[in-house]
Amino acid sequence: MCLVPGRASFQLTRHDLTLNLGNLPETGNHRRATFLCLPVLQTPSPRAEPRNETMSPSTGPWFDGHLDLACMALEGRDLAQPLESASGPPQPAAVTLPSLAEGRVTHFLATLYTGLGTEGPCGYSDGGDLDTPHRAGRAQLEVYHALVAAGRLRLIRSAGDLDEPAQLPAAMLLMEGADPIRTPDEADWWFEQGVRAVGLTWARGTRYAGGNAAPGPLTPPGRTLVKRLDRLGMIHDLSHLADEAARELLDLAAGPVMASHSNARAICLGHSQRNLPDDLINAIAARGGVIGLNLFSLFLISDGDRRRATVDEAVLHLEHIAQTAGRDDVVALGSDMDGGFGADRLPRGINTPADLHLLADALSSRGWSEEAIAGFRFENWRQFLKRALPK
Ligand SMILES: [Zn+2]
Repeated sequence: MCLVPGRASFQLTRHDLTLNLGNLPETGNHRRATFLCLPVLQTPSPRAEPRNETMSPSTGPWFDGHLDLACMALEGRDLAQPLESASGPPQPAAVTLPSLAEGRVTHFLATLYTGLGTEGPCGYSDGGDLDTPHRAGRAQLEVYHALVAAGRLRLIRSAGDLDEPAQLPAAMLLMEGADPIRTPDEADWWFEQGVRAVGLTWARGTRYAGGNAAPGPLTPPGRTLVKRLDRLGMIHDLSHLADEAARELLDLAAGPVMASHSNARAICLGHSQRNLPDDLINAIAARGGVIGLNLFSLFLISDGDRRRATVDEAVLHLEHIAQTAGRDDVVALGSDMDGGFGADRLPRGINTPADLHLLADALSSRGWSEEAIAGFRFENWRQFLKRALPK
């Protein structure tokens, strides 16, 4: 799971490459973040449309910006099973389709994840290998298309799909790590297949960009791909990009930007360049983007390798992001549940999607308005995607 200082070897999970930073002190920003966020929370954020009245902070649905469902399926999880009989890693499990329904997670960004230097059906070992990550991405695409064909899922392809009644869970496809796109002009095919957002890299980099654990800029093919994604109307996901690559992308890209599952570096370093520095938070917010709260304890607290974060510690990231951005409609959920770590690494008390209400409860007790909480749990993703997706 972690790169651990002092050990001779390291292990990579299929998802987030992590560095044990257990000796680092707390940042000391918690009190500051709480204090400084108050003016933000007293100022209603502008909204393009009235809030859906069915979404109350305590009982409304959730929109999760990051779930690796297809990779879980390829690794052995039967997504149709109830949580009690969830198969495959990671364990203890939090996510199956029934558990998401029980937690009222009606909408989510569903990934096609591939990771350089990881094993299993979503990994590949050679950064120059065009075919292995391509096959892994296609296999995950087929998982989603099979769920759609079986009547268990519908895909969000356009802004209008966000207004349909929620009779089926709705997924927008997000490619996490762009190596499945063998050449930039192949991005068109992935768009036709339903992919609507692309993160150029996972932690260890791709042919297209430096990753959070392998820092570097965009590569020449990466710059070409960014332009191609722009022409298609694809959303750019900055999570996992190295800082240098993220800043370059923001300069180069004209299209919408988001961070599907990233926290605030000022609150917790997380590891390497995994959480967002304030300038990137500001840049995403300035372009109308959204940042999804990642619930992996290691990205929430500096000693997350030794204990579970508390729900309040998770909320500190939201408050810092809202305060830094000067608005609360930039924060959303990007839980990453079961994305390479088990339910025992989620904040204390959150073991399944049905426990997500603890986040809303904490926000309420800390003075967040009902509108701001509804924004966090659902509306901020919906409004962002209504602006960003094809009409
Ligand atoms: Zn990730």
